[in-house]
Amino acid sequence: MEIKHFTNRALWSESTSKHDFPRLTGDIEVDVAIVGGGITGLSAAYNLVKSGKKVAVLEALQVGMGTTGSSTGNLYASIDEYLFTIGSKHSEEALKAVVASRLSAIDFIEQRIQEYNISCDFRRVPFYLFTTADTSAKSNQIEKEQQAAVKAGLNISKSPPENFPFSVDEIVNIPDQAQFNPLKYVSQLALALQGDNCQILENTKVLKVEEGEPCTVHTSHGTVRAKQVIMATHTPKGIYAVHTAMEPYREHAMAVKIKGELPAGGIYWHMQLTQHYSLRPYIDGSEQFLLVLGEAYKVGHENDTAQNFKKIEEYVRANFNVESIAYTWAAQHYKPADALPYIGNSPTEKNIFIATGFAADGLVYGTLSGMIISDLIMNKENPYAKMYSPTRFTPIASATKFVKENLDVGYQLVKDLLFYGDADEVKDIKIGQGKTIKLNNERLAVYRDEQGAVHLVSGICPHMGCAVHWNNGEKTWDCPCHGSRFGIDGEVLEGPAFTGLAKPKHSH
Ligand SMILES: Cc1cc2nc3c(=O)[nH]c(=O)nc-3n(C[C@H](O)[C@H](O)[C@H](O)COP(=O)(O)OP(=O)(O)OC[C@H]3O[C@@H](n4cnc5c(N)ncnc54)[C@H](O)[C@@H]3O)c2cc1C
Repeated sequence: MEIKHFTNRALWSESTSKHDFPRLTGDIEVDVAIVGGGITGLSAAYNLVKSGKKVAVLEALQVGMGTTGSSTGNLYASIDEYLFTIGSKHSEEALKAVVASRLSAIDFIEQRIQEYNISCDFRRVPFYLFTTADTSAKSNQIEKEQQAAVKAGLNISKSPPENFPFSVDEIVNIPDQAQFNPLKYVSQLALALQGDNCQILENTKVLKVEEGEPCTVHTSHGTVRAKQVIMATHTPKGIYAVHTAMEPYREHAMAVKIKGELPAGGIYWHMQLTQHYSLRPYIDGSEQFLLVLGEAYKVGHENDTAQNFKKIEEYVRANFNVESIAYTWAAQHYKPADALPYIGNSPTEKNIFIATGFAADGLVYGTLSGMIISDLIMNKENPYAKMYSPTRFTPIASATKFVKENLDVGYQLVKDLLFYGDADEVKDIKIGQGKTIKLNNERLAVYRDEQGAVHLVSGICPHMGCAVHWNNGEKTWDCPCHGSRFGIDGEVLEGPAFTGLAKPKHSH
């Protein structure tokens, strides 16, 4: 069967009825402006509104249609880089606090679901991290994770349940974790919150934020003045020091229909040599899907991203009897240098708050960010605020990744600017292909569409001046430095850049 990869439609976006919220019209004044209507922004909105604050959530697209609506919907105490990493990079105390804080965020989600009667297929399920004999994962990883989980106070088992869909070698089995439909959750939460004290404004793109008393948030449809601003945009928009302490990754996902029974509800992390595949079942009425994720790669660092997709397909076909591939998509995450996210006050701006570096664990960390940041704004003690603060300095825990990341940014800047292609190459660009070239002393990103028309934009990312790279799977221009991504006509899709790729200076 011919499979159309990178349809860029997550399973949730198709199977969830969304709610339309208005766009901003004119100028308004609120206590707190929240930029971004994903799980972070809406969790913050809930806590602030409950504390009596007047808030506006400013969403460029539609609520939940950023990374939240492209995630897997798993809620777990563990982390993508494994709990033992926290133990080794930080301390046993930090390990316990990470697990306790993440469990409190999962409880928060469950409480909101009960409070507002949100129908989002929430279920308490086990989490499994396991190896199989054929996957030759690094030795003693599972044993290390078992020990870390026990130290963190989790009640684990070291054996799989009956009818486990894999023949397990070693396993960490953690009961009472959860999964849900993330898009149904955030869109219904937004609907419940909407009111005089909580304006949910969609199709309202923030163009610039000026810190001050009050702060001024310039949007595509008016200006918002606010005492505080929360950058709930997954990675903060603009120039922030935390960008240099995170690596942007893209990860591929697939929802397949299989012949026979789906595995029982659960979060399945199948460990391989360098990363794990994440699997979960999802039942939507009469429709049944198995979601499979994996093959993360560093944004802008692979020439043939479509290949990664094929690897997932091979993996799922090798392990299940696949009837059809229903959805395929990719989404982004930001790995922090010291394995902890950055949540709290921006180090250089008193009235601006950031929440980022969630790796692939941000449904829980985003929820936790909403809890921590609202406490900071309300001047309430929060037991986890210090550990996750963006102002923390952890030289030993961050060192290797920090140096590597910044060497890499420097390398990208120089390498890409020296090795641009030739003007002659424009005519050689085939249908569906993108290439960076130098023309009239200008660095350009060129794409030839299916009709043969050529799309020309500047090849320089407006965020910090790195050269963008072609992503053949998704047909986008991706910046290898801090993860900004752009469409073929230069519009900004995600990442820290506020603006898109410029139009060419000369007409070509
Ligand atoms: C493939 C994949 C699977 C994942 N699965 C899981 C999982 O199972 N469990 C888990 O815990 N985590 C998971 N994650 C991580 C998780 O999805 C994210 O960390 C989380 O959704 C981030 O939420 P957010 O609200 O901070 O960001 P987003 O959901 O990305 O929301 C940010 C919002 O800001 C808006 N925005 C951006 N710029 C502007 C602007 N200029 N003006 C106005 N609005 C703007 C965007 O449109 C977007 O809606 C996964 C990540 C990936 C990549």
